[in-house]
Amino acid sequence: MALRKQKLKSGDCPYCIGKGYFQLLLGGSETCNSCNGSGRKTTNT
Ligand SMILES: [Zn+2]
Repeated sequence: MALRKQKLKSGDCPYCIGKGYFQLLLGGSETCNSCNGSGRKTTNT
């Protein structure tokens, strides 16, 4: 089984790596507060 490296694209949230949520070790997922689940890095607008 090959391991895939998580590539961090520019514009992706650095906390959840663009996924928009965190995978919990105990199961389930939690929405990323940094990007509010969008998976995108918050930018100054
Ligand atoms: Zn995020």
